[in-house]
Parts: sequence; structure tokens; C-alpha cells
Amino acid sequence: MSGTELDYIHSAFAENWIAPLGPNVNAFEAAISSHYQEKRQIAALSSGTAALHLGLEILGVGAGDEVLCQSLTFSASANPIVYLGASPVFVDSEWETYNMDPVALEMAIESRIKAGVKPKAIVAVHLYGMPYQNDRITQIAQRYDIPVLEDSAESLGSHIDGVPCGSFGDIAILSFNGNKIITTSGGGALVCRSEEHKKRAIYLATQARDEAPHYQHSDIGYNYRMSNILAGIGRGQMEVLADRVASRRKNYTSYKEELAKYEEIDFLEEPEGYFSNRWLSTIMTPSFEIREKIRLGLWEENIESRPMWKPMHLQPVFQKNQYYGGEAAEGIFDRGLCLPSGSNLTEQDLDRVLNQIHKIMKS
Ligand SMILES: *Cc1c(COP(=O)(O)O)cnc(C)c1O
Repeated sequence: MSGTELDYIHSAFAENWIAPLGPNVNAFEAAISSHYQEKRQIAALSSGTAALHLGLEILGVGAGDEVLCQSLTFSASANPIVYLGASPVFVDSEWETYNMDPVALEMAIESRIKAGVKPKAIVAVHLYGMPYQNDRITQIAQRYDIPVLEDSAESLGSHIDGVPCGSFGDIAILSFNGNKIITTSGGGALVCRSEEHKKRAIYLATQARDEAPHYQHSDIGYNYRMSNILAGIGRGQMEVLADRVASRRKNYTSYKEELAKYEEIDFLEEPEGYFSNRWLSTIMTPSFEIREKIRLGLWEENIESRPMWKPMHLQPVFQKNQYYGGEAAEGIFDRGLCLPSGSNLTEQDLDRVLNQIHKIMKS
């Protein structure tokens, strides 16, 4: 925490705004909005998953539709597609950013159109804070006139040529879950390009009430708005976003400086003009065996590291869904490792991790 969160929470208590609306919610939305140079309308919600659900609905996704989704991601990118009665069609990653492969994306679009089902939307993700290849993805999406939902849950503070992640898609989502770069304990937001989209999001997030003195409903609604208490935490967190990004990037630099000398350990460099918040520091190894040797060696010293996201097309729950691409996503999963990456890691913590990796690499 930054230290100012409690002041904002106290003001919610003092003013008795204990509700899923209020001054903290408005101010938190304004703070997020001012993070973007171009005008963006923010709807603060109960989670990133809720934001994905509403974002897809606002883009017009419904029962029977197909949605193209990056396969290498957290399941929350794909699950809301199913909530809406639509089916995810998974797309491979490329090795420059680990994100959606534009070649596989175009192949998938062509193939689905040929089969008579034009995809309704594209869910592209900036994994671990590294921006996806926005120029190419957006160009393809526009050529086929398919809207992009930008999953920016892991990439608040990242940018391409100074343009912040969360402002590329037709609509974008953020997450403030406890593990993300800044947090409200649980929370999320929709980043909208129009007032109309924001209004629609808040309408749906507050049980879709018609304008009437009584309770009247013309749509199915949800209870997805953010609490005014939690928005108070968010206000304090926005003040330290830049510090958190600096801490995460420092972790990455420490790992890289010490470990790049090993032939078996590769780092994901930022392509020209790209800036990653380095939410998680990841390394790439030449094989599953070497990856596991490092992971288990760290575990022996009570240090947790984790394999990278298991691709959705390899998940039991999505066994029957279509997949386009090759074996990049699978290779990244098999050979990649997320190292301890908290913003609060001390020099001693980092030394402990590094010493153990040195030991493993020498054995
Ligand atoms: C965390 C995360 C989400 C979901 O956000 P929640 O706030 O946890 O619901 C969605 N997509 C990605 C890529 C995430 O990492």
C-alpha cells in the first residue's frame, strides 16, 4: 500500500458512502482516465473478469457467436466468452512478445469466414506486461471489421511509443486483483472510447434498471459495480503506479544482469518502442527438463516460481474448441518460468533467488 489508501477509506466512512457508488468511485475513475492521453471513459467494476464479460456484451457478442482469443493467457480472458453462450476459438502466440500471433490470427479469421461464421470479436492480451504487436493486430482487425477487446489486466503502466496499454482496443479491461501491479484487493475496470459505452457498462453493472420510479427491467443485468470502499484503495494505489512499475522493472534488470550469462537462460527483450511494466519477470529455457530443474531447485530452497500460463487450447475444459497456429504457445508454456516478481522484493530476497539459481546452473 502507498499509505494514503486509509485516508480515502476513512472519508468513505465519514461521509457514509458505504455503497457500490460514491466519491471514491468517481475519483478513482478520473485518476485512471487521466492516465490516458486520449480521452477515455472509465467504468470501475468488481473485477477484471466482470469487465471482460460486460466488454464482450457491449461489443455485441451473444449466444452462438465465435470469439477469437489468445490461447496463451489466464482463463479469465476466455471464460466470459462462454458466459455469453459464445465459443472461444483459440489463436497461437509469437516469440517476440509471447502474445497473439498476427499470422495465426489472420489464418483463423480467413478459415472461420470460409466456414460461414465470421468471428464477432478478438480478445488480445498483453501478457506479463509486454504489449502485443498492436500495429499488426489492429490492422488485421480493421481489415476484417472485427472489434478488439484489449485484455490489459497485466499491463497497466506499459506502453508502445508512449501510448499506454488499455487504449489500443475498441474497448479494454484492467484488473486490480490482489496480485496485479496495483490493487483494490479485488476490482477491475472497463476503458471505453465513448460515453455511450461507459453508460451501457454502468447500466448493465447495476442490474439494468430502466428509468422509472419502480423497479423495471428490459435487459438482464449484473451486480458488477465497484465498492466505494475499494475505490478508496484504488485512489491511493494510482498515486504509486509509477513506483510499482519501477520496482518491477528493477527486479527484471537484476535477474537479467546476473543470469543472462547462462546460455540456457533467455530474457524477453522489449521490441523497439515497447515499454513493459514487467509485471512478472520471466525467463525462457531450451527445454522442459531445464525449466523444471530450475523450478524444482528453487522450490528446494522454499522459493516459489511458476510455469507460464498453460494455453487454453490444452486445457481439459476447452478440449473441443478450435485452435489456429503452431506450437509457440505450447513451447512457451513448456520452457518458460515466472520468477519471484513482487514490487516489495528486497535486495536480500533477490540475492537469495539469484544465489540459488547460480547453484542450480553450476550443478
Ligand atoms: C487477472 C487477469 C484477468 C482477470 O482479472 P480479475 O480482476 O482477477 O477478475 C483477466 N485477464 C488476465 C490476462 C489476467 O491476468
